[in-house]
Formats: sequence, structure tokens, C-alpha cells
Amino acid sequence: MSIFQKTTIALARSPAVGQAMRAMAARTSLAGRFVGGADVDEAVRTAERLREAHGIRASLFYLGEYVADRAAIDHNVNQAIDACRALAGAGLDVHVSVDPTAIGYMRDDALGEENARRIGTAMQRFGGQRGQRGQGRDWLVLDMEDSGIRDRTCALHRTLLEAGIPAGLTLQARRRRTPEDLAWAIRQRTSLRLVKGAFPERALDHAGRARIDQAYLDAAAIMLSREARESGFYPVFGTHDDRLAGAIIDLARERGWPAGSFEFEMLYGVRPDWQIALRRLGYNVRVYLPFGADWWPYAIRRVGENPRNAWLLARSLKSD
Ligand code: FAD
Repeated sequence: MSIFQKTTIALARSPAVGQAMRAMAARTSLAGRFVGGADVDEAVRTAERLREAHGIRASLFYLGEYVADRAAIDHNVNQAIDACRALAGAGLDVHVSVDPTAIGYMRDDALGEENARRIGTAMQRFGGQRGQRGQGRDWLVLDMEDSGIRDRTCALHRTLLEAGIPAGLTLQARRRRTPEDLAWAIRQRTSLRLVKGAFPERALDHAGRARIDQAYLDAAAIMLSREARESGFYPVFGTHDDRLAGAIIDLARERGWPAGSFEFEMLYGVRPDWQIALRRLGYNVRVYLPFGADWWPYAIRRVGENPRNAWLLARSLKSD
């Protein structure tokens, strides 16, 4: 992808820039648009509103990526566990997304794995206490970051599944290697979230938007194969691209996947009208709902995806 997007990723990771931005504004209106709450209670209230108003489900994500400090890692893990507790308390799906770099992998793999197990176990425990409602939709979903952590994320996914934890994985259509990972995943009782990919690396990726979109559709066809259906695999399409969603709906119909047997997932605050429209058509829709105070890396990445958000960011910082 563009130099622009690479620059925004570098900005997102810069501690100095992040600190300066946080000092300038505790929470800008850009953050308000894309972040579902400053803390877990506010995030769960947002999730409840979406569920009640539109039947849209949520996956909670605590904003705390790329940390090596032990106290920060523990804090991130505790927030994810709190999210599981609060979601179950509200009778919602116990569905959380985590970045491996936020829960220990920046420090030591064994710590990251132990923390992922802790979150997964909490998810199962709280989901069990909630009772029947929403069962089968509780997942701990691993986000996919840059290629430096890709193999370890895939290995963690397998380890969690082997431990009986309902763990899902995110795969990036832009990476040429994705069909290989898919071939394994569709034979498991797991959930896989397919995204275009936000970490461009020219040596590893398909080149150009048209090629990436085609790779997305090719991967979607594998996820909607008969083999996947027979394994109890749950396909999730993480995209705001209505052309792709339309093609996926056609393919799912053609292959006999009922509307409730797969899901579209979008970022909170991005194309909300399209989220509601898909729901009205009877499709499962979930939003990826970030919460917490550390909004800067997340917000600047949204600018990388859509430069129009830069205007929103500039305006909100100016008015603060
Ligand atoms: P695009 O072609 O980028 O966009 C389609 C349409 O949606 C366009 O009209 C565009 O303007 C609009 N749009 C897209 N994004 C935005 C935005 N931020 N603001 C406003 N409008 C927008 N990437 C990873 O690498 N790893 C992950 O783990 C990961 N997890 C994700 C989880 C979910 C639920 C989603 C939805 C995305 C995730 N992403 C992740 C980001 C993803 O890789 C893409 O960068 C992002 O979704 C944009 O691609 P798109 O499919 O929406 O298509």
C-alpha cells in the first residue's frame, strides 16, 4: 500500500508522538467516533445499545497495542478479562479481540501464551455463567498484526484450539500466503475473520487494490466451501466494502449457506448505515468495538485506511 499508510503506521507506533497527542487532547471527537467507550462499562453500554436498536453484536477490544512493560501487559489482560465479565453480565456475547503484542508477545512468547489462555478461560467461565442466550457466539479472536508476529499468532491460535478454547483468528487477504493458512483453518471448529490487511509489506503482498480485492474473494470462496461447512467452521468477513459483501452474499446463497451461518464484521463508527442495512437484510453483523484511553494508535490507523478521516482528526484536535 501507499507511503501514506506506512507513515500512519509509523506514527501509530511512535511513543513520542503518542504521548504528545495524548497531552494535547484526552479524547478527540475522532476518537469519540471510532472508540466505543473510555472504559469497559461505557463500552458495554454502547454494545447494549447497538444490540437493542439494530441487533448488531460487538467484539470488545481494549486499546493497548505494542507494549513490553510488564505492568502495561497485565493491565491490558485484566481489561480483556473485565470485558468478558461485563459482557456476560449484560447478557451479550462474550466476544473479545486481542492483539498478541498487547498481551505479552513483545516481551516473551510464553508470557503472551499464558495471558491468552487466561483471557480464553475467563471468556469460557463468564460465558458459561451467562446461560444459553447467545451461546456459540463467544469467541476470543486474535487480531493479525505485522509479519514479524504472524507465525506466532497462527501458532497461538492452534494452541488455544487444542486447549478447547473457542479461539478465532484474523487473516489478511493481501498476504500471498493466506490461502495456505486457510486450508488448515477451514477444517477446524473455529472462526476466521478475513480482512484486506492493514500492514502492507510489498515483498509478501499481492500488488494493487484490484488484486487484493480478488484475493479477498478467492479466500472467501475457500471459507464458504463445502469442506468448511462440514467442519463447523464459522466464516467472518471483516470489510466495509459493499461490492465484496454483495459478491459474498451471492456466493453464500449459491452454496447453500443460510444467512445466519456466517457474519460480517465492521469497525465501530465506520459505515454505520451499511451495518444497519445488512442487518435488515437478515445477515449477522458485528462491530469491532475498541475502548480505553489509548486511542491514538488506533485513530491514526483509521486515517491510514481512509484519508478523509485526517480531516476529522485535524478538526477535532483544533477544537480541543
Ligand atoms: P476498503 O476498500 O478499504 O474500504 C471499503 C469502503 O469502506 C470504502 O468506501 C472506504 O472509504 C470505507 N472505509 C474503509 N475503512 C474506513 C475507515 N477507517 N473510515 C471510513 N471509511 C472507511 N487489519 C489487519 O491487518 N489486522 C487485523 O487484525 C484487522 N482486524 C480488523 C477487524 C475488523 C472487524 C475490520 C473491519 C477490519 C480489520 N482490519 C484489520 C483492517 C482491514 O485490514 C482493512 O484495513 C480495513 O477494514 C479497510 O478495508 P475494507 O475491507 O473495509 O475495504
